[in-house]
Amino acid sequence: MFDNIKVAFEDKSDKDLNRAYLLFKTISNPIISKTLTAFVKIAMWLHLPINGVIKATVYKHFCGGTTINNSQDTIDKLWESHIGTILDFSAEGKESENDFNRAMNETIASIKKAKTESSIPFSVFKPTGLARFSLLEKISDNQTLTKEEEIEKETFEGRIENICKTSSENRVPLFIDAEESWIQDAIDNIAIEMMKKFNTKEAWIFNTLQLYRNDRVAHIQMLLKMIEKQDFFVGLKLVRGAYHEQEIERAKEKRYPCPVHIIKEDTDNDYNKALTLCIENIDIISVCAGTHNEDSSALLVELLEKHNISKNDKRVYFSQLLGMSDHISYNAAKEGFNVVKYVPYGPVKDVLPYLIRRAEENSSIAGQMGRELTNIIDEKKRRRNT
Ligand SMILES: Cc1cc2nc3c(=O)[nH]c(=O)nc-3n(C[C@H](O)[C@H](O)[C@H](O)COP(=O)(O)OP(=O)(O)OC[C@H]3O[C@@H](n4cnc5c(N)ncnc54)[C@H](O)[C@@H]3O)c2cc1C
Repeated sequence: MFDNIKVAFEDKSDKDLNRAYLLFKTISNPIISKTLTAFVKIAMWLHLPINGVIKATVYKHFCGGTTINNSQDTIDKLWESHIGTILDFSAEGKESENDFNRAMNETIASIKKAKTESSIPFSVFKPTGLARFSLLEKISDNQTLTKEEEIEKETFEGRIENICKTSSENRVPLFIDAEESWIQDAIDNIAIEMMKKFNTKEAWIFNTLQLYRNDRVAHIQMLLKMIEKQDFFVGLKLVRGAYHEQEIERAKEKRYPCPVHIIKEDTDNDYNKALTLCIENIDIISVCAGTHNEDSSALLVELLEKHNISKNDKRVYFSQLLGMSDHISYNAAKEGFNVVKYVPYGPVKDVLPYLIRRAEENSSIAGQMGRELTNIIDEKKRRRNT
């Protein structure tokens, strides 16, 4: 179903395709990719004028624009192919109260925009955009907080509640992104509280589960038990997880049992189990499959057929990142499934950690990321021969 390359690239000009080819060709080489990301980090630190180069290459491919307003062309273009947008304010690594308030206001602005545009079916935020990483780590570790930290924690929870309330009042579903396991308990706890509070009639608040973790299928089972006793709907975005190496390194360094699978197949199995569990419980769980994996996406198609769930049932979404796995997004959308893409936006220097993760992901041997380059090459050949 996802094999139609023509459909996958139908809104890309030859110029777009050539740019994408050069980009993926460069970053698919692990040595070049590592050298370039190291150079970019140093250049940014030294304030060298490299913004223009980044903006014209990797940023142009993976991001919508520097603000919500100048991401509009990307939103409109995706929507022409029936693909929705999730505006993702991608400023990372911030540590000041001003930055946290700005991230909250950006998310609220994206919810309000989503309310008026059917091309934007979801909103999203990253918890570390709203509080200090070390605070979330301390909370997750059940450490005693100082008085100041207690206030910080309340402010953080207040920001999240403000965003979730805006989301449910405006009837715009909201994803809470997942991050490193050692800060995730703090996020999960508040996500569950928000689901209980705002998902009373349907799922507006979605937590994210990373299925590279070896305890996440059990987490879904725990949620199912919880719903038996307390009446609320669960929203889940399922992903494999973006911090695999860091998880393994930290567990080794601090000598605790590794929280993530170390064999890719185990992650794949858990992802597919989680997807199956969600669809089997569709009356109480809404699910978004955030994945570039073809097998998992094909499994979702099968599960919908098996359970007689219509392709455009609003409780089920396929989701990919802008500039990645267009063969899944465009083909699924053409078949009438609900598809939405993350469209990161923000100033170049703030989006950099996100772009570096994309470069690293696309140069890794594990997974199916070599597929991006293969697809682009196939489409270039197809165009040459027609
Ligand atoms: C819409 C969307 C939203 C996302 N939101 C988040 C988020 O909130 N938090 C987050 O962490 N990530 C998020 N991601 C990124 C995601 O977690 C993955 O990093 C990325 O999508 C690659 O996984 P995949 O399912 O597409 O498929 P694949 O390419 O098949 O799998 C690659 C993934 O498999 C896992 N893996 C690789 N090697 C091994 C190994 N040896 N053993 C075990 N597992 C291994 C890793 O998780 C790796 O990322 C999101 C992705 C999408 C598309």
